[in-house]
Amino acid sequence: MNNREEIKKNIIKPMVYCFKTVAKVRPSLFVLYIIDMIMKFASTSLGLLMPKFILDEIVLIVKEGTDKHLNLVILYVIMHLGISGLMNLVNAYTLNIKSWMQVELDLELEVRLTSKSVSMSYEYTEDPKFLDKLQAARDGISWYSGGVVGMLNQYYNLISNIVVCLGVNILLIFTCPVLILIQAAGIAIEAYFNYRINSIELEAFSKLSTANRLFGYFFWDLSRPEHGKDIRLYESKKMMADKADEFVDGMCNIWSGTSKRTRRNQYGSNFFNTLKSVGSYLYVGVKALMGLYTIGNIQMLISACNQVYESVKTVAFSIQEIVKKGNYFNKYLDFLEIESDMKFGDKLLEGRNHTIEFKHVYFKYPRSEEYVLKDINITLNQGEHLSVVGLNGAGKTTFIKLLCRLYDVTEGEILLDGCNINLYSESEYRKLISVIFQDFQILAFSLRENIALTEIKNTDENRIVEVLKRTGLYEDAMSLKCGLDTNLTKQYDRQGTQLSGGQSQKVAICRALYKDAGVVILDEPTAALDPVAEYEIYRQFEDLVGGKTAVYISHRLSSCQFCDKIAVFSEGTIKEYGTHAELVKLENGIYAEMFMEQAKYYNDCGIGKENPVMA
Ligand code: ADP
Repeated sequence: MNNREEIKKNIIKPMVYCFKTVAKVRPSLFVLYIIDMIMKFASTSLGLLMPKFILDEIVLIVKEGTDKHLNLVILYVIMHLGISGLMNLVNAYTLNIKSWMQVELDLELEVRLTSKSVSMSYEYTEDPKFLDKLQAARDGISWYSGGVVGMLNQYYNLISNIVVCLGVNILLIFTCPVLILIQAAGIAIEAYFNYRINSIELEAFSKLSTANRLFGYFFWDLSRPEHGKDIRLYESKKMMADKADEFVDGMCNIWSGTSKRTRRNQYGSNFFNTLKSVGSYLYVGVKALMGLYTIGNIQMLISACNQVYESVKTVAFSIQEIVKKGNYFNKYLDFLEIESDMKFGDKLLEGRNHTIEFKHVYFKYPRSEEYVLKDINITLNQGEHLSVVGLNGAGKTTFIKLLCRLYDVTEGEILLDGCNINLYSESEYRKLISVIFQDFQILAFSLRENIALTEIKNTDENRIVEVLKRTGLYEDAMSLKCGLDTNLTKQYDRQGTQLSGGQSQKVAICRALYKDAGVVILDEPTAALDPVAEYEIYRQFEDLVGGKTAVYISHRLSSCQFCDKIAVFSEGTIKEYGTHAELVKLENGIYAEMFMEQAKYYNDCGIGKENPVMA
């Protein structure tokens, strides 16, 4: 990348984005920065001139001893204190307002980041490179850049210090131009050292995004309650602690290597800074001894030197910070610009009756060489109930994921009413299907929100009650402390509750029913239910899903009897297809064998005796 492109990418692009965001979300922030700038210029002028006037008048009192000078000293001191006090008040006020505006803008960036990441193809959630980019984007808007306000502070520092520096330099040109040269030399050397420090930090940042993600996993994710059981029961505390130690060592190595390299440059910078101060004092001191300056002038010139030095240093530092923070911020902008590989069309669903057909579908997972599904051909007609069975790893869940379009097929096509599903708009296709995966998540929201998964104002309470009744969860729901408004975890709400596995699974079923989609998919929906509750769910299955098309995976083959068709997956393909009655009769059939195995188990346990379906 050449310089021009670099400036465009690391300076102009983040700046335009930050300005646009503030203009959209909180334009009054610009007014606060303008007030700050006026205050800064005024306080610098006051700080340089007032002490000079006061000192010169004090010298005149000593020399002449007149009341006139004493009155002037008192007047200057009162003016100085009064104006400084007023400025401090204004500064404190703007700082306070800025801090809550910062929270608001930070949240806006987070919302944009989260919306982007959840709108990306599902396959990205398993891609380590993508997850690193997401982490880098999140880090990029945290303390690394300070977010929009962090960036704006740097632009403000740059502009306000240029204004102050110009003003003070004009004063020095008329009073002591040599001092400008001394400051310029000192500042140039220090800028060089700062440049080196920034390069080292930037290099470390690129190594840290994976480390930061692992940090989150070790210190936050692993401490979540769902991991607590396994860690305790398998006594894996020591293993976790060792792994965390290993990780912390790796992280410390990165940091200590970085700080060793930055320290050397810091020493160089400090040395030249001291040299510059000594030079300035010597020059002004000699001039004063020659009787060329009053005490007030000496004070003003030394302050002016410091001011020039500080403001030029801040300008140089701000430019470097703008580039550095811009680099970090760009990780965020780069992430927002990632295009999802999954393309959708704009076709809409027509009518309520739909046929879905898999035609010679082959699939391998991204970054994987092996086909997980091979030559899948199956048609799902409106209202048909299909049961998908097979051993673990046979490809059942993958089949469902393709049906839900979480992934695109590698070869072949899936047709919806004769058209490739890729031609349909994303929202239309998502509307068609409601699915419960085995690893469904109960969110830290109320029961009502967990079922409706939409804003409270848009929920239909009657429908929530209806689906609760249909799944047999209504009584339990009504016995909760806050009814439908009970939070379903205790993590963020002391009044919250923790449902049993079976109850949670019913909530997930309620969620799918509430959505009222044309196709209902249940991936082992009853694994956490006891056999009686499971039997109840299947017995009512027709009622539950009504005339909808339904696909479900279950390991308990007794449930397949309620389905119109059964597809038996084995080694990534459909080996058997037919009704329960047809498949149990197949000689050496996979389904027949699995069914007999399970029936034997139920008979041995005596469950089948009370429950004919399981027999
Ligand atoms: P089933 O649901 O029948 O148990 P799956 O569809 O989950 O089987 O898995 C089929 C095969 O695909 C397995 O070999 C599994 O290891 C592999 N697989 C599943 N998910 C992924 C993934 N995200 N990336 C790579 N391979 C996967």
